[in-house]
Amino acid sequence: MAEAPAWARSLVLTVCAEADAPLPRLSWRHRDRTTSSGLTRQSAGLVSVVAGRDPVDQRLTLLHELAHWLSPAPRGRRRGRTRHHDAAFYTTAFGLYRRHGVPDAAALAGESARYPSSLTHARRLGVPGAEEAWRERRMALRQRLQRRPPLRVLVPEHAVRLVRDGRWTRCAVCGIRVVGPNLRRLRRRPGRHVLMGIA
Ligand SMILES: [Zn+2]
Ligand SMILES: [Zn+2]
Repeated sequence: MAEAPAWARSLVLTVCAEADAPLPRLSWRHRDRTTSSGLTRQSAGLVSVVAGRDPVDQRLTLLHELAHWLSPAPRGRRRGRTRHHDAAFYTTAFGLYRRHGVPDAAALAGESARYPSSLTHARRLGVPGAEEAWRERRMALRQRLQRRPPLRVLVPEHAVRLVRDGRWTRCAVCGIRVVGPNLRRLRRRPGRHVLMGIA
């Protein structure tokens, strides 16, 4: 394991001092990719970063993990795991990015590439550029939906007739495979269905 670079160690000190939080151990490794990834285990007192080549993304990743570190420890079944990326988390995270040298555009791009829902939080927090990024994403999703051809009725509603086909069971009328809970239900009592698809 490589030693964490000086800037990373001093960033951990600054952020924890600012929040009056205990210090985590910082584990630091390298990988030959552009982006970094991280993991925080509050119960183990550990923040781990696998650092890619992009220095801004390294900083973003470390601050993202520190936002987990500063978030209240989860209780119940999720104990020991990191907390969800919720509104409270992103309030902390975008605050850290802003105060510790991650440009808004880099924060938005880095977060939304990993967690698309981050844009909703960034927009609520008034992060410059978030409104536009959120609108663009919404428009892209809508266009993708519009490009999808509409589903049509390929075989009208009919009584299902189960037949064996090697390992599978099919409906003899429309030919579709029947599996899982549907198959168990149709074995118990007869049923009807429609075959929809792209014409
Ligand atoms: Zn996270
Ligand atoms: Zn059928």
